Amino acid sequence: MARCLKGPKDDGVANRARAVRLLRRLAAIAIASVVVLGAGPATRAAEVDAVRLWRAPDHTRVVLDLSGSAEFDTLSLGNPNRFVVDLASSQLDTSLKSLPLEGTPIRQLRSGVRNGTDLRLVFDLTAAVRTSVFLLPPNETTGYRVVIDLFDDIEPVAPRPVLSVESLDSRRDIVIAIDPGHGGEDPGASGPGGLREKSVVLQIARRLEDQLAKIPGFKPVLVRTGDYYVSLKSRRDRARALKADLFVSIHADAFREKSAHGASVYALSTRGATSTTAQYLADTENAADLVGGVELGEMDPMLAGVLADLSMTGTLDTSLNLGTLILEQIDGVARLHKKRVEQAGFAVLKSPDVPSLLIETGFISNPGEAERLATPAYQDKMARAIRRGIQSWFARQPPPGTLLAWQREKGGSEVTIVAGDTLSEIAERYGVTVASIKQSNGLGRDVIFVGQTLVIPEG
Ligand SMILES: [Zn+2]
Repeated sequence: MARCLKGPKDDGVANRARAVRLLRRLAAIAIASVVVLGAGPATRAAEVDAVRLWRAPDHTRVVLDLSGSAEFDTLSLGNPNRFVVDLASSQLDTSLKSLPLEGTPIRQLRSGVRNGTDLRLVFDLTAAVRTSVFLLPPNETTGYRVVIDLFDDIEPVAPRPVLSVESLDSRRDIVIAIDPGHGGEDPGASGPGGLREKSVVLQIARRLEDQLAKIPGFKPVLVRTGDYYVSLKSRRDRARALKADLFVSIHADAFREKSAHGASVYALSTRGATSTTAQYLADTENAADLVGGVELGEMDPMLAGVLADLSMTGTLDTSLNLGTLILEQIDGVARLHKKRVEQAGFAVLKSPDVPSLLIETGFISNPGEAERLATPAYQDKMARAIRRGIQSWFARQPPPGTLLAWQREKGGSEVTIVAGDTLSEIAERYGVTVASIKQSNGLGRDVIFVGQTLVIPEG
């Protein structure tokens, strides 16, 4: 039996992990018949009121909603693969039938009574998994929860050699990590008609990704691609692993007063919040981990060292300048909540080396803004404003070694027309005007043809 409280991040080298798994499995099989529960103080009976499931790209999360605290133990079994969770003095008060198991390694989830008063949940699995199970205390929106993460047992891909002919010669893309806030267990803010922040921001993020992907020299990567939770630290870690040139977290806000409105852009503060709204928001957004379900050990405290690094490396300056350009663009699309980039201690922005911004695209609690935020046309406009801000910054300050830096050195870039291209769309893509393209290329009319090469003037 394994009291499993370790996160997946410790797995380290594949071989070691495999050996540990094998040992655990052997140990589990050896003592499977002598299950002893809860050596601690006796707990009161807990009801499992609901069982919820989300599938992420690399793991499956199952959350048990409990009426109270409960001791638990876990057990992994092979041949066939099974994972067992025993809850002391607990009863199942819901059905396990309608869980969306498709795409997960769970073939079936069944329950039984153990030792008269304990609840046993058995996950029949189609593949081996790594597991992490932890108890979360109640928060503002939910009671006690047991979170069961089943991580896909995928062999890590061998890293590519750092030095290759290609990497010496290539003009790399500018990597933009786009982070749709919240997800899964954590819906974020709620608006009229059940509108959820987690859905709206994923849609805006996808539109931003689409738009950036069309621009040569940019590589957008979504930090969350579906309805599942990613911890604030994992979001930062992802951006750093991608060596992102920018991390942009997309949110929509809510406030007690329905009249609160406007979009805003935030960077990290190394001192205090620039306004009470900023402080309120940082507190709200930072609470995501408590709702989204993160083991206590995974949450990290504000580190003075990180903050010192931030101000020293100029990362924060970049964030503030870039944020200002985005804010200018949003100004044409939405009302602004604040006219300048605000600062507060947002946990998700605490990367020492990746410029990071958090954008509140509007108040989902404001009926008018909620209605707009839910429409594809407005989502597109908002994405376009963010994209234009990003583009204009990197056109001015292209990181060395990138295609944009190379183009700038060369004095403008070139584009070869393919079927479906129009002058206005190309102008939009490069952030320049149709008139300036026509002028640079000596075009009298708006007619272009496939295969034609146009020089794009600097924006
Ligand atoms: Zn949010």
